[in-house]
Amino acid sequence: TNHLLVQHWRKDFPILHTSLYGKPLVYFDNAATTQKPSIVIEAENHYYRHTNANVHRGIHTLSQQATEVFESARGKLRQLINARHDHEIIFVRGTTEAINLVAQSYGRSRFKAGDEIIISAMEHHSNIVPWQMLCQQTGAILRVVPVSDAGELDINVYQSLLNKKTKLVAISHVSNTLGSINPVKTIINYAHAKHVPVLLDGAQAIAHLPVDVQDLDCDFYAFSGHKLYGPTGIGVLYGKADLLDEMPPYQGGGDMISSVSFEATTYNKLPYKFEAGTPNIAGAVGLGTAVDYLSAIGLDAIVKHEDSLLNYASELMTNIPELRIIGNARHKTGIISYVMAGVHPHDIGTFLDRQAIAVRTGHHCTMPLMERFGVPATVRISFALYNTKNEIDKLVSAIYQARELFK
Ligand code: PMP
Repeated sequence: TNHLLVQHWRKDFPILHTSLYGKPLVYFDNAATTQKPSIVIEAENHYYRHTNANVHRGIHTLSQQATEVFESARGKLRQLINARHDHEIIFVRGTTEAINLVAQSYGRSRFKAGDEIIISAMEHHSNIVPWQMLCQQTGAILRVVPVSDAGELDINVYQSLLNKKTKLVAISHVSNTLGSINPVKTIINYAHAKHVPVLLDGAQAIAHLPVDVQDLDCDFYAFSGHKLYGPTGIGVLYGKADLLDEMPPYQGGGDMISSVSFEATTYNKLPYKFEAGTPNIAGAVGLGTAVDYLSAIGLDAIVKHEDSLLNYASELMTNIPELRIIGNARHKTGIISYVMAGVHPHDIGTFLDRQAIAVRTGHHCTMPLMERFGVPATVRISFALYNTKNEIDKLVSAIYQARELFK
């Protein structure tokens, strides 16, 4: 990728120009959350300064304007993932809330004892625990697709797990720990052949791959705004309209009703049925702006750049003695997880932090995956559009230094 282009993108992110310990910040923790471009920060600020009012309620002008910008953000998110209808976009707090919504609304109203839910061994805790809670409530059972040494799902086992009792498949599109891109189209085709709906956890995919929910034909798609250069506290549950229509509400309150009396309450239409209470209006506006930002750059350019970063870093890091990269899937994006013989990941993380290099160390909310690979934790490097090869050079040289220090 054009070096100048990336330098140009970097100017959009104010935090990248701060220093820590007298050194310029190198931010490689993008799988935890991405940094925000000025236009996103300013969009929220502008909303509060000029448009703030509650949505869907007021006859007054400001309220109508607030509703307009909120609903226009919904339209931008529909376009981002190519959903058929705006009302298939439910605003939620993030991926976690989206998955809990499906578990408690879709799952709880339909699943019974002995029904099966298929997940995988590389899921984030957000795509494990809501299903475990549902299993406790309904007597349903979790089935887990294993992960190979390369960090790929075992599709043969997956196929054999699909059976008459399977009620749902819930799988990550991209692993937030390994970066593996899962063969979700194949997964969906096999499930649909047995009339089983599929939820994709898109938290780690959405800013790194073009996502087209109609082409994928997934039934639900969940993601968080904050991993997409948008604000925290806002995210999206996409669901096919006919499924969402049949589902009972998740939470009760204002905005999700059409009429309330003590005898009977009737529910609002989609998407409002699932948006109880005053939503994160400013967050939605910020996220809509993040989508504008991403679309202006184009996902193809981002994929190309992040792939070149991944290849460059993988090559350099493979040459470091004692360093073991966990997971080398054939289809991978933007993440390197590694361990180093004899050195605890937290010590490496702390050492890198003093060089102003931000990485994640720990289990990355995927404790079963750590167990699968026999490690308590890894060091995770995760890329975003604003990272550079120069930053990778700094990282690699710091890893060599850490290796000397902790030997
Ligand atoms: N799933 C995956 C794959 C993730 O990467 C994350 C965030 N790291 C989540 C779920 C949870 O997202 P959130 O905390 O924003 O709800």
